[in-house]
Amino acid sequence: MSNLPAILDIAEEYGVAIDHRTVGKKETMAICPFCNSGKHKLSINAEKNVFKCWICEESGGVLAFEAKLSGKEYNEIKAKYFGEKSLKVKKHPAYALSPDQLKQIGYHKMKQNEFNVFNKNKDEVIRTWKHYEYEEYVKYFAIFLLISKYKNKELQKAQYSWFCKEIEKSKVENIHDTILNVYQNREQKPWVIRAIDVSEIAYELCIKEQKENNVDLYTSVLFAIELLKFITEKQKQGS
Ligand SMILES: [Zn+2]
Repeated sequence: MSNLPAILDIAEEYGVAIDHRTVGKKETMAICPFCNSGKHKLSINAEKNVFKCWICEESGGVLAFEAKLSGKEYNEIKAKYFGEKSLKVKKHPAYALSPDQLKQIGYHKMKQNEFNVFNKNKDEVIRTWKHYEYEEYVKYFAIFLLISKYKNKELQKAQYSWFCKEIEKSKVENIHDTILNVYQNREQKPWVIRAIDVSEIAYELCIKEQKENNVDLYTSVLFAIELLKFITEKQKQGS
């Protein structure tokens, strides 16, 4: 990481007001240029090349510091020191998962506490995530399809607003928009086909039986998902 600039040089370049009594100490204190509190509450650690403001909690490494000071994009600053090529190195998708998403699939603690282990298991992490994503799409799209089949428009409206709240619990990003898009454009993804099968079974269980409240709707979908898994498993064994 020898290409990185020294954070104190960057501070000087951008005229950050340093408390000169703290120069040479472990933490150099300065007036935070991001919140301008007027006190020397921005802590700059030259050894680690990082900064943190104790008032606005702005923090990060030297590249983030320069990006914020210059108003440029982080990647532009990165390219300045490491070349354009540095931006093209594609990160493994497991690293792009948010803490919340990792928590959902049980890998949050591993990433935090045992990064080496997480790193070794990154393919497994992403497989687990893809599996969760698939199941979420199937479940919510099946519920959505069922609601679209309601004859009673009042009930349909009520169910849809329940659905909108329910789907927010999912950790899959933009799942609601994706479902609406797929519905409008009739895209044929594997989870779409599965969700159609699920909704047909669930239809027999709830709407046809006039069990149209959201609890019955939800449990019918979960039951249909399990039933289809069971059938697929049986078919695999049979062939
Ligand atoms: Zn600040």
